[in-house]
This record gives sequence, structure tokens and C-alpha cells, in this order.
Amino acid sequence: MPEAESIGRLGVWEGYRAGLVQRFEAGDKGPRPQVWIELHPRPDRIKVCDRCGQECPHIHDRTERWVRDLSVFDADTHLLVHRCRVKCPACGPSLERLSWLAPYARVTTRLAESVARLCKVLPIKHAAEFFDLGWDAVKAIDKAHLERTLGEPDLEGLTLLAMDEFAIHKGHRYATVIIDPACKRVLWVGRGRDRGSLRPFFEMLGAHRCATVLAVAMDMNSAHELEVRANCPRAEVVFDLFHVVAKYGREVIDRVRVDEANRLRGDKPARHVVKSARWLLLRNRENIPRPEDRVRLDELLKANRALLTVYVLRDELRHLWDFRSRGHALRHWKQWYGHAVRSRIEPLRRFAKRLKPYLHGILSHCAFPLHTSLLEGINNKIKVIKRMAYGFRDDHYFFLKIRAAFPGNAG
Ligand SMILES: [Zn+2]
Repeated sequence: MPEAESIGRLGVWEGYRAGLVQRFEAGDKGPRPQVWIELHPRPDRIKVCDRCGQECPHIHDRTERWVRDLSVFDADTHLLVHRCRVKCPACGPSLERLSWLAPYARVTTRLAESVARLCKVLPIKHAAEFFDLGWDAVKAIDKAHLERTLGEPDLEGLTLLAMDEFAIHKGHRYATVIIDPACKRVLWVGRGRDRGSLRPFFEMLGAHRCATVLAVAMDMNSAHELEVRANCPRAEVVFDLFHVVAKYGREVIDRVRVDEANRLRGDKPARHVVKSARWLLLRNRENIPRPEDRVRLDELLKANRALLTVYVLRDELRHLWDFRSRGHALRHWKQWYGHAVRSRIEPLRRFAKRLKPYLHGILSHCAFPLHTSLLEGINNKIKVIKRMAYGFRDDHYFFLKIRAAFPGNAG
């Protein structure tokens, strides 16, 4: 079998055959070995217009184009493709459709798929280095791949939704993500976090499907709540445990820790213990891995009454999301609220009073017990994607990456 024919069989460039094949060792054309393969169209192939898919027997003109393919063994592979434009009766002169090369693409479809697969787990920069392609080229390949494979989200039969907001660039701009909690699927990502920025989602959902939504989980956000109520008449709003407890950590525990450290100004060792305990206080006790850290926490709480109070009341607050009976949850809330406002701890009293108007959305969790780990998980994953996407200014691409990270369990 002649060499070019075997290479043609290995390469499977449908409709084309290999002509001249050259190999250059490292240092000849670049730092790595290269293989150059010239590809000629087979005269007997069936030619199809790329725009309309119609068979076109006549060729309008030919051009030569260099295209990268997957590496052959150790060598970067460059194809010199003799590309044809056909005379399409419907479209005029148009590119011939090839199964292995998209129109105007600089890389073959299989190389593009490998690039996209690597971009799932690595930042663009690393994928670009691995394939020896430019940063912009890799980004364009990954973006086109995501656009092609993600398609439109399936919006049928949704009864539950969850939404969250996140910062896009160092807290300057915000975006909102909407999830189908039943199968952990991102349905939509849009810029902004005000009321109007959610509207495109509900317009896409349409009045008929909005009417079947029974509950929407979210952070305490009046604008989001108003927009949900305006669009989904049957939906109950459920405030998510993760967000409420995180807010409590920031506004109560952390505030009291700083106040206590300031109060202990005269007692340096005690002040240091309080000041350095941020991480211990904000974590759940069961998530503190080292036993000596748990002992440190217990000693700190034993020695500091204000910290002990806000620490215990955080666990009691969290307990509100354990109830399935609205009546029991309400009784627990009244106890908690009483403790909080009777305490002499100003940040705690302020937090409790601010939380009170949102009670309805905490009690509705009894009927719609959406698990908080969903929003927490998505929140964390978005942070990871943001780090990987370091350096881009393309929100649309960023949103596609978020959708791709949560394609859903069902398929
Ligand atoms: Zn055509």
C-alpha cells in the first residue's frame, strides 16, 4: 500500500485523499516535530453546498488552506487542504460541506473537539499551550463548541426554580443564574441583579409555563421576590439557608468578634485568641478537621459570653430549616427571635429585626424543602469557573461555561 494511501486511511478525511506527506524534525520548522500532509479532493465524491445542503456537481473555484489536525504521534500536524467552492443553483458560489472541517475553520472538527474537552478542565491558557494554538483561537473554538452543543434549555414541566446572583468582575458587575433544582441544571444566566434583569427569563418561560411554577428558592432579595410574584402567580418564595446563615456570619459573628477583640485591648493574649478565631467561628463545628482546633473553639466560647451567644443562636437559626411543620417552625422562630432581641448584643438584635420581614420565605421551606447544598455548590463552582476564565471580558462565554458545568442529571 503506498504511504499516502495509508495515511489517508488513518486520517479519514472524508472525500479527500493524501498527496505529499513530509516530516520535519524538531528545530526544522519549530520547536517540535511537524508533519505536513497535502489533501486533494477525490474527483468521485458527492459535493454538497454548505449553506443549503443541496448536491452541486459543478465547482466554482478552488483555494488552498492550511489547517491544523490532531497530532500524528509526536508531531504537530498541518494539512494543506485544496478547498472547493461549488456552484449552488440556490446560494451561488459557496463552500463545499466537509464532515471533518467547518467552514472557515483553522482546525479540524476533531481537533476542535479535543480542545473543547481540555477547556472543560483547564484554563484557556493551558489548553493553548498544550496544543500550541493561540489563546484567542482556543477561546473561539471552545465558545463555538459550547454554543453548538448546549442548544436551548428545555423549559417544559418546571415546578421548582432556584436563583442566585454572583459578581462578574471583582464585584463591579453582577449576574443572575436560574436553576432547575430537580436535576441540577442551569436554565439561564443573565447580566444584572435588579428586578428588570430577571424579566428576559420569565419572558422566555412564557405565561403558561410560569403558571406551573410552585416555588422559587433564592437569597433574601426583595427585587427578585417582587419579580417572581409578578410573573409566577402560584409560586411561593423560599429563602435559602445557605445565604441566610452566610449573612449571619458576616453581620453578626464577625461583627461581634471584632467588637470583642477591641474590648480586650488591654489583654493582649486574650485579644489575639479572639482576633484569630474568624475561621473557627464561621465554620460548622463538624467541619473543623483538627481536634485541637475544636478544643480551641470550645475554650474561646467558654471564655466569651457574647461569642457563645451568637454562636449558639446561629445553630438555632439553622435549625429553622429542619422543620416540615409550619406551626413548629413558627414556634421555634418566636423563641429564637425572643432570645435575639432580648440579648444585649446590638449586631444580633439588628440582624433579627431585619430578618423578621422575610419570615414568610423561611416558613415556606416547610412545604418546599429545597436542599441548600444546591445553591452553595453552584456558588462555589462559579467561583472556580471565574478563576479558570481569568482574563476574559466575554460575559457570554462565561455564561456558556456556567451552563455547561450544570447540564443536569437527566441528560
Ligand atoms: Zn446552496
